[in-house]
Amino acid sequence: MIKIGITGGIGSGKTTVCSIFQYLSVPVYNADYEAKKLMVNDKNLRKKIIALLGTDSYKNDELNRQFIAAQIFNDQELLTKLNSYVHPIVKQDFIKWSSKQKAPYAIYEAALMIESESYKLLDKLIVVTAPMELRIDRVCQRDYVDPDKVMERIRNQMSQEEMLMYADHVITNDGKISLIKQVVELHLLYKSL
Ligand code: ATP
Repeated sequence: MIKIGITGGIGSGKTTVCSIFQYLSVPVYNADYEAKKLMVNDKNLRKKIIALLGTDSYKNDELNRQFIAAQIFNDQELLTKLNSYVHPIVKQDFIKWSSKQKAPYAIYEAALMIESESYKLLDKLIVVTAPMELRIDRVCQRDYVDPDKVMERIRNQMSQEEMLMYADHVITNDGKISLIKQVVELHLLYKSL
């Protein structure tokens, strides 16, 4: 099974691009979504999170995302520790999941692909890029937040330029070049590998 990674900065269009691949019947593993599920369902991971952040990390058997966000906000050390617990479990889960897929290739979508070193599990990495102003506008509209909040999130992420150094392929989501055309071209390429 060929494994393709998709990453990009906030609002670049990762999920939008993945939805086009899904439309072409390509299986997609959304690492952020699966991580949240594993943080609830994986007993060992749950124990480690409680030991790190406290019992308030869960409320009514669900992840208390507000509490966790407040704990790790501005505490880089806690965030790094939490990520070091979560990422290996997600990687394992992805490997298990991908071994069950019956398709020429599968996709791993993650915002933290390079920092978590997940890209090393993959055969090819796509980086989705979009102009900064467009990313800010799109996230403001999607999440009903102010541009300042989006800028703050962008500043906390690896820059697009840095991500591009790891890219095998780039998808430009600037609203001008057809996204569908770019995805179909890569789809044909990956199917032929
Ligand atoms: P995040 O990192 O926050 O998860 P993302 O990279 O997955 O974001 P998307 O959620 O795919 O980005 O896109 C951000 C917003 O921009 C969404 O509301 C999406 O519908 C919209 N969007 C993405 N690409 C386009 C496009 N080409 N034209 C119009 N709207 C778009």
